[in-house]
Formats: sequence, structure tokens, C-alpha cells
Amino acid sequence: MRDFNRARVLDAFAGAVALTRGEIAARTGLSRTTVTGLVDQLVREGLLTTPRDALVVPRSDVPGRRPELLARTRPLGYGVAIDAGHERLQIAIADLSGRVLARGVRHIGIEATAKEAARHTRAVVRELVAAAAPGQTCHGVVAAIPEPIGRDGRVARDSVASRWHGVRPGEVLGDALGQEVHAWNDANLAVLGETVFGASRNLDDVFYVKISHGVGLGIVVNGRLVRGTDGLAGEIGHTQVRADGIVCLCGNRGCLYTLSASEYLTQALHAVTHNPELTLDNLAAMGRQGHPGAGRVLRDAGREVGHAVANLCNALNPRLVIVGGSLARAGDWAISGLRESMADRTEARVAQALEITASRLGERAEVYGAIAMAIGVIDPVTAEPRVQAARRTPA
Ligand SMILES: [Zn+2]
Repeated sequence: MRDFNRARVLDAFAGAVALTRGEIAARTGLSRTTVTGLVDQLVREGLLTTPRDALVVPRSDVPGRRPELLARTRPLGYGVAIDAGHERLQIAIADLSGRVLARGVRHIGIEATAKEAARHTRAVVRELVAAAAPGQTCHGVVAAIPEPIGRDGRVARDSVASRWHGVRPGEVLGDALGQEVHAWNDANLAVLGETVFGASRNLDDVFYVKISHGVGLGIVVNGRLVRGTDGLAGEIGHTQVRADGIVCLCGNRGCLYTLSASEYLTQALHAVTHNPELTLDNLAAMGRQGHPGAGRVLRDAGREVGHAVANLCNALNPRLVIVGGSLARAGDWAISGLRESMADRTEARVAQALEITASRLGERAEVYGAIAMAIGVIDPVTAEPRVQAARRTPA
């Protein structure tokens, strides 16, 4: 019985990098006393450790002192997370408990090709590994791509404006790095990042809405990422919201994309800024500085996104909607617009069970999702929660 319960405690770490004693009790159904006894023994045997640094970002609404976290003891090694955004590459090297050892950012223009982006990635990864984890084993490399990615690993065809259009990003990056790279859609990784490290720890039904260059949605239902038949679940940008709207890059008319993507929002500001070169970063800065015109377009975009998300909330009844992406962080314009339209359109009982919050991990959410996969907490092929392979010999 004791061996069986020990296994249950260790199995409780599936899909998690660190847990409190209370969380272990909730996950196993064992009493707090039993858990405390088993945990003490497992710590003595070197199978569990009490990491000193924060590996997870706790929800801010948990009052009082932070309870002690426990983690599986891991061998030396590292995972690589690549966030290949439209304007910058963010790369992080993390140890096998998810602690970031080194981070690098490189700004690359939107005109750079997939191969150029891959070359930059290789240079940054080599630099970071040499500095932070020389001679150690790489356990996985995972890339966040701001595009819909089918199960064949290829970027879906409606992304002609992207350097990743029509390629398999995992293949291009893998060729450059000389090792296997798993590429995932950024909103999907962001929701997993928040679930393992951030705002939605211990929650089973969660949406992550990303408002940035375009709009994306990562969906977790019953603790599992929803991928859909071809891996394209959550592509809400092409929901039609104006039957007579302008033609979208997908060929349909009046998509949510045409009312929320940054290129359309910056166009809407041409008349007041007289700047035809306005970028996403300019718009975000204007929002943060309280520019009323920028605030208005961000708020309106938030309302349109909220409309689509409310419909999905009525369908799936999530516990938490996390709002992230660079335009969601440009002041609270977009998130307040989203809250308003969701309040009008979410069914009362669904709304009662629902919390809407800004991303805890901010611009690092996708990176943390990629880390969770690269270190094997989440399977990089299936996105299923996994128990990490642990060091067998005591520390
Ligand atoms: Zn469209």
C-alpha cells in the first residue's frame, strides 16, 4: 500500500514542474498527513527536492505566505525554447526543472525569411548553451510560431504575409540546429505555459486569448490541449463577424482578423497620426501612453474578440480566460473592451463560473509553454501531460 501511494505521489507530477503538499493531496486523493509522511521520505531518498527559486508563478489571489514547493529530482540537462515572433526571436535555455538559465533576444525584420530566422536562432542558441549549460545534454527544442500549424507540421496556407508561409518551421529550424525541433502555434504553447507555470495551474478548462499581430486562442479542456482534426483548433481570427465586411487574407469577408489584427488597427489611425509606417510596437506604445485614438481602436478590437470568445465560452464553459499578447498589454484598453462584450454575451451561469484575467507570464507565456515541452513535462509530439523521467539514484 505504501509503495502504491509512493507511486501515486510521484505520478501526481504529471504535467507539473512543482507542486505544494496541498496540491499533491488534491491530485492523489490522499490525506495531508499521508502526503506529508511520503513526501518527507521521498525527499530523504533524493527523489523529490524543495527548489529554492520560484519555478512557478503563483496566482496573485492566493493570500498569505507561499507554501513550500516540491519538485522531482532531475538529472543535469537543459531544454531550448524558441519564440519566433513576427519582429523578434526570444530564446531561453532552461534546466530540467524549468528554471531559465539564460535568455537571448534578437530583433529580426518582418522581411527576414524562415532560413534567415533559423540562422539567427542557431547563433543565439549556441551562445546561450556555451554560457549556461556547456557539455550538458539537450533534452528537447520547441519553437512557438505565430501561425496556425497543421498536424503535418506545416503552416496553414492563409498566412501569406508571414516568413513561415507554407514551410514546416520545425524542419527549417531543425536543419539549422542539427537536431529535432517541435514547432507549435504560439497561443497553444501560451495556454500550456500558463497551465504549467502561471495563471491556470490546477485548472482543467482554460482559454488563452492572444491579441497581437493577429488574434489566436489556445484551448485546454479537461486538462488537455484541444488540437482539432488537423491541429487548427482555436483559429478564431477567421470567424465571420461582418457579413459585408472587407475581404480578409483568407478570402472570406468580414473576419475577426480584419477587425483586430494590428495591420488594420494601425491603418485606422492613419488619419490621426499621419504615419503610414505605424507598427504594432508603435500602437502598443500609444496605448500605454493613453493616446485616445489608439485606446479607441484597441478597445473596439477587444470588444470584437470578446464577442467571438463569449460564444466559445457558452459552448465550452471554461473556468478561466487569460488575455495576453502585446496589444493586450498596451494599457487595459483591449482587455476592458473584451470584458464588456463578454459580459453582454456570455450566458449568466457560464459567466458566473468564469474569471477573466491578464496573462501572469506576459510576453513569456509562449516561452514557458515551449520550456514545458522541451523539458518533457508536456509531451512535445502529443501535448499530453507527462511524468518526467527522474534520476534514479539518490542525490
Ligand atoms: Zn479570414
